[in-house]
Parts: sequence; C-alpha cells; structure tokens
Amino acid sequence: MNDILPDATPRWHQLETVTRAVLAAYGYREMRVPIVEKTELFARSIGEVTDIVEKEMYSFEDRNGEHLTLRPEATAGMVRAGISNGLLYNQVQRLWCHGPMFRHERPQKGRYRQFHQVDVEAYGLAGPDIDAELNIMLARLWKALGVSALELQINTLGTPATRQRYRKLLVEYFRRHLDALDEDSRRRLDSNPMRVLDSKVPETRKVVEGAPSLLDHLDAESQAHFAEFQKLLDDSGIRYRVNPRLVRGLDYYTRTVFEWVTTRLGAQDAVCSGGRYDGLVELLGGKPTPAIGFAMGMERMVALMEAEGVSVPDTAPHAYLVRVGAEAERAGLRLAEQLRTALPGLRLLVDCSGGDFGKQLKRADKSGARVALVLGDNEARKHEVGFKPLRNTTEQVSISWDLAVARLAAWVQ
Ligand code: ATP
Ligand code: MG
Repeated sequence: MNDILPDATPRWHQLETVTRAVLAAYGYREMRVPIVEKTELFARSIGEVTDIVEKEMYSFEDRNGEHLTLRPEATAGMVRAGISNGLLYNQVQRLWCHGPMFRHERPQKGRYRQFHQVDVEAYGLAGPDIDAELNIMLARLWKALGVSALELQINTLGTPATRQRYRKLLVEYFRRHLDALDEDSRRRLDSNPMRVLDSKVPETRKVVEGAPSLLDHLDAESQAHFAEFQKLLDDSGIRYRVNPRLVRGLDYYTRTVFEWVTTRLGAQDAVCSGGRYDGLVELLGGKPTPAIGFAMGMERMVALMEAEGVSVPDTAPHAYLVRVGAEAERAGLRLAEQLRTALPGLRLLVDCSGGDFGKQLKRADKSGARVALVLGDNEARKHEVGFKPLRNTTEQVSISWDLAVARLAAWVQ
C-alpha cells in the first residue's frame, strides 16, 4: 500500500480533474459508496472461483460477527447501492465513482494492495451503442490526458447459454492437456473452466493459445451485437483489435468485454478494463437490468502519463512574502489576505519561520516562487511592498499594495 506524497498529488489532481470533466460531458454523475461491504456481496457477484474471491480479499469479522470485506472492486457496491436506493428499476442511469480498492496480490510495479480506480457504469441500456460510446468517451479521455500509447482490445463472451455450450468444448480440450496446466487451472477445470483462459501462468498460457475460441460458437444475437459494436467503433475512427482470449477476471460479464492496454508499462499492461454484465443486477436481487461499465486503474494511468512525458500543472507558489520587523509582521498578514481576496487562484506563501531578510529570501527562492514580496516596517507604514523577481535579474522595486495586485494578476488564471 502506497503513500501518495505531496510531490505526486498534482499529477493525481490533473488525472482526476480531466476525468471528471470528460465524464460530465457524457452525462455521468458521481456516486460515493462505502469501502466496506458484506463479504457475501463480492463472493456472489465476482464469483467464488476467481483469484479475487479465492485469495485476494481483505476480509474480517466485525464486532457483531458480520463477515465484511474491503472492496476489491467497485461494481458490486455500485449495483448494491443502486438496488437498495431504487436507482435502477426501469431507469437509465449513468454513474461513476472513484477511490481505493484492496486486493492481497503480490506487490510489484503497477500492482499494489491498495490501488485506486475510476469506475464508470451505465444501467438500463441494452444496445451496442452504449458499448461503443463508453469507448469513444475513453478515447476522448486519453486525448484530453495527453496519452496515446493505448490499444483497445475487444471480445464478446456471448450469453450464459452460449458459454454453457462452449464450456463443454473447453473442458474437453483442457483435459487433453492436463499435464501442462498449473495447479489452480486444473482445480478450476470443473468449477470454472473459463477462468483458465485468464490465467497468467506462462505454461498455461501456451495451452490456452490452442483452445477453441468462443467466437466460433456465438449465438446469433450476441454475434449481431458484437458486429454492430465494431461498426460503431469504425464509424468513430476508434482503432481496436479483436482478442478472442480476452475473458476478464470476473464472472459477471456477458457479451462485450474490452481492455485498453499499453506497451509502456511492462507486465502490468491493462490500464482500463470493462464489459457488459446484463445478469448482475438480477443476481444481486434487483429486476433484470442491462448494464455495462469499466474501471480505470489510476496508478497505472499516472505511470503512463509520466512515461509519455505529460507535463504537470505548476503548483509552486506565485509569490512568497518576506516580513522583517514587528510592524511588518502584522501588516504582512493583512496584505496577504488582501492579495488572496483580490486574486482567486493566487498561491501565496507567507514566511512564518522568521529570521533576517537573507534567511527568508533563501527560503523564498527555494519555494520556487516567481517573486518575493518584501515588507519592512517602513513599507508597511506606507502601504508599499518591495517586489523582487526571483527568476530573472530584474531589480527590486517598491510599489503600492494596489500595484502589487495588478502585477500578480497577470500570473493568475
Ligand atoms: P490485471 O489483469 O492487471 O490483474 P484485472 O483484470 O484484475 O487487472 P480489473 O479487476 O478489471 O483488473 O480492474 C480494472 C483496472 O484496475 C485494471 O485494468 C488495472 O488498471 C487496475 N488494477 C487492477 N488490479 C490492480 C492492482 N493490484 N494494482 C494496481 N492497479 C490494478
Ligand atoms: Mg487482477
């Protein structure tokens, strides 16, 4: 679990601000849901025979003996909240949330035990147009964030009935290659053979390469849905690759699944993953409601922005106020307030550490400020202040407090 230190937060703010704006442009509204849910919610929605539920959840018993879990993903909680607050029945909802998720995985670059996701969900829409629009929106988001090294991979998982038929073929195939499968995969062969397709074990992956493809066994409706999804992406000029091996690590997906992957981050290459889960709302006790959503991994997106050299907005102070003398110390706080009131967005640091002019000026320089405002008792009495640019050789001049506002205004948007 990582600390996100103050030097890193401007990048996160940049990601959050841009994401928020793009989501708003498509009508998504933010919802905030608890970090803790009943364990059973995740077991039922994600699936008992998945990595997350079998070995990655932070679960505990509370004082009443209730079994609770720190959320490993957001969809289950969003659906639970949607049902219990009457948001989903017979309605269309475009919702999103963001925040920490918890999985007890082996920590490595791009894989952490507390990580953060932006989670986006559309409820009540069954057609392939929303599947396409979500990805059109993501393409716009990547552009707005300044990243380009992302490829969209898509696949369809058909309906539960399709998968039932496909499952038989899959089990037969894997049985013929039993020796080459890892232990987890062998164990899952009967309970959840689709999971084997999602294995990350290299030996197993080799076997998976030769497995029959679900695309060859699709029902007609899923086929039409998938074809239309692709046509709409084509119309919008969104490039993609059909990856028949893309199955996603959670049980609840139906039909469309997709993943935006990058070659810039090494092994942890999935930045944003999602899909359709038409059966989940009903499974969790609501009325049948089509739904589709995705989650973007924020740590990986931050890393990608870094890797692609996206510049971070400047957060250094615009100005640093140096006060020397008892009168100046008091007047300085008033001046600072006047400046902040007159100039919303101004970042002004008042040196409260004390010391002589030289010491304070050194700190002003170190702060990254563009200008030091230098206030002595004399200036304070006259409502003047020394204006000393720190990033060029311009001489210090004494100006009125009003003029100081005017000069700083040019730097503040
Ligand atoms: P992966 O295949 O990398 O394990 P996943 O299929 O488990 O990802 P999802 O559960 O779909 O991922 O989560 C959506 C996104 O959240 C991923 O695409 C990834 O960017 C991010 N993510 C998932 N697990 C972690 C983690 N442990 N640390 C950091 N980011 C993660
Ligand atoms: Mg995973």
